Amino acid sequence: MSAAHDEHHAEEVEGPKVLATATSKNGKVMRTIQVVRPEAADTSFLAAGAKGFGITLKHFAKNLFLPLRKASARAKAGAPVDEKWKNEIETVQYPEEKVTYPERFRGLHRLMMRDDGAVRCVACMCCPTVCPAHCITIIPAETDNKGIEKKPAVFEIDELRCVVCGLCVEACPCDAIRMDTGDHAKPVEDRADAIENLSSMLGRGIRSTATQGGEGPNWRSRGHEGSKDDVNR
Ligand code: SF4
Ligand code: SF4
Repeated sequence: MSAAHDEHHAEEVEGPKVLATATSKNGKVMRTIQVVRPEAADTSFLAAGAKGFGITLKHFAKNLFLPLRKASARAKAGAPVDEKWKNEIETVQYPEEKVTYPERFRGLHRLMMRDDGAVRCVACMCCPTVCPAHCITIIPAETDNKGIEKKPAVFEIDELRCVVCGLCVEACPCDAIRMDTGDHAKPVEDRADAIENLSSMLGRGIRSTATQGGEGPNWRSRGHEGSKDDVNR
């Protein structure tokens, strides 16, 4: 390895600087090191804040002046009136304009129903257990259905506390809760209005006939393969 390469490599190495080395009687190598502290500019919140503010100002000025400059250039070139004052500000004019969400966008929760219209949830408590925000409240009740032990008498989600992680959907053993509505949590003036309940979540979105694991009707008799004519979404 050349001396120049060694020099270059030494510059790249980060960490404590070795000032001296010595070997003890029992053969242990001891090093005296100098800890390299970061520069003040790299640890100051003020410097980082100023940098961020500068970036914001840059975008503000760009949005303010660039469209005007382009409009004036178009006017000089004799562009049609619509084209002349075309808005080129890089923002979405919500709610008139909306961006298309990706397919796996996690929206407001909805609860699924069985074919007979009963709630699919069996109040197993998996989702409130896994929820990192502790925002799911379920009070179980007994059902009249001999094959199903429990149902939720109360099922509430505080959407203000929800961190939209989707763990409740992942944890549910019977596909009873989904976040595929594509809806945002609604704006509210009172915290209590942000709490979704059984009726609001059952009434949201399409009525699903999904069965265990989303595999369609009669999944037990067909094993786990499913069939092409399943209508399970
Ligand atoms: S999405 Fe996450 S935070 Fe929200 S209710 Fe489900 S588990 Fe809780
Ligand atoms: S995990 Fe599913 S079945 Fe269990 S309580 Fe939650 S929604 Fe109900």
